[in-house]
Amino acid sequence: MAEVIYDHVTKRFDSVVAVNDLTLEVEDGEFLVLVGPSGCGKTTALRCLAGLEEVTSGDIVIGDRVVTHIPPKDRDIAMVFQNYALYPHMTVYDNMAFGLKLRKVPKQEIDRRVKEAAEILGIQDLLNRKPRQLSGGQRQRVALGRAIVREPQVFLMDEPLSNLDAKLRVQTRGELIKLQRRLGVTTIYVTHDQVEAMTMGHRIAVMNQGVLQQLDTPENLYDRPANLFVATFIGSPAMNIFPAQVVGGDGTVQLVAGDVKLEAPPSHRNRLADYVGREVLVGIRPEDLEVVAGNPESEGGDTVRLPVELIEPLGAETLVHLRGPAGTLIAQGEPRIHLDPGDVVTIRVRKDHLHTFDPQTELALF
Ligand code: ATP
Repeated sequence: MAEVIYDHVTKRFDSVVAVNDLTLEVEDGEFLVLVGPSGCGKTTALRCLAGLEEVTSGDIVIGDRVVTHIPPKDRDIAMVFQNYALYPHMTVYDNMAFGLKLRKVPKQEIDRRVKEAAEILGIQDLLNRKPRQLSGGQRQRVALGRAIVREPQVFLMDEPLSNLDAKLRVQTRGELIKLQRRLGVTTIYVTHDQVEAMTMGHRIAVMNQGVLQQLDTPENLYDRPANLFVATFIGSPAMNIFPAQVVGGDGTVQLVAGDVKLEAPPSHRNRLADYVGREVLVGIRPEDLEVVAGNPESEGGDTVRLPVELIEPLGAETLVHLRGPAGTLIAQGEPRIHLDPGDVVTIRVRKDHLHTFDPQTELALF
């Protein structure tokens, strides 16, 4: 087990800066998820750690060693890839044993480790099969088994669930979480899927265009996104965003967007004071827009009336698309809510859950 440090790591491919000055500390035993849209540099960051890419500048530390210029095989890591990369002509046993044989680990020790890993993963009965005789989920376990037998200091995983169908992916996700907690091996896991990131990581590093945007727990990323990118990337359906004018007077601050006027709660007044007379971007998650039955009186400026554009029943919830002051707003309604397009509904805004962003820097106003 070991901690991992990226110390100002930059990786350039000619004119493309794939990883831009990444500084990040992964704690011993932590499950850290690197997440971001396609091309944001997460795979490159992982490959730099594995030694499969030479960094352009900066250093990488694993445990108590600077490994920046150490070849991959001497870094004491094990990597699980998206395509599993199993040897088709070898049995499951040999696939798992292969790396240990190369390292001249004694036969008995290899046998012990392979059988132990097979038991942990529940693939004892598959050891004599070839990869083509396995399902996708089973192949994925073999790939994990091959990493486990190495007993490395760090596991590196690059979208290891992406070739599984949706149901198996959810099931395997849960198993992988339990496995990591049980083995307690520092794990760095790359995915573009924010749901996977939110459910698996102790902490999540969100990247965009090679730059680390925020490193935090799933809860904090969701509740306190540092900027507009994180706010809209984490959460599905995405956070609603609209511009609003900040209007002050008589000790109150209002956010005004078209006909919609929201009184900013006291907790937001300080942060908005500098913006009076200017525009900010307001963010509100769909579950913080409550569809209210009937036509209640507005209480303290926290309700608005908006026309319904579209209803999306999803079973456990209904997404209600509303015509907002600057484009569509999505509210999360009750499962079997009865609404039709064109209806005008009352929406209660959970104002304590409002987010505000500077329109130029896109940073959250705290
Ligand atoms: P994805 O989820 O699509 O795999 P990613 O976030 O893992 O994306 P990377 O694969 O790390 O992104 O790529 C980051 C950037 O670096 C991209 O612009 C990509 O085109 C570029 N890049 C990656 N590898 C190379 C390479 N070998 N040569 C040139 N450019 C590369």
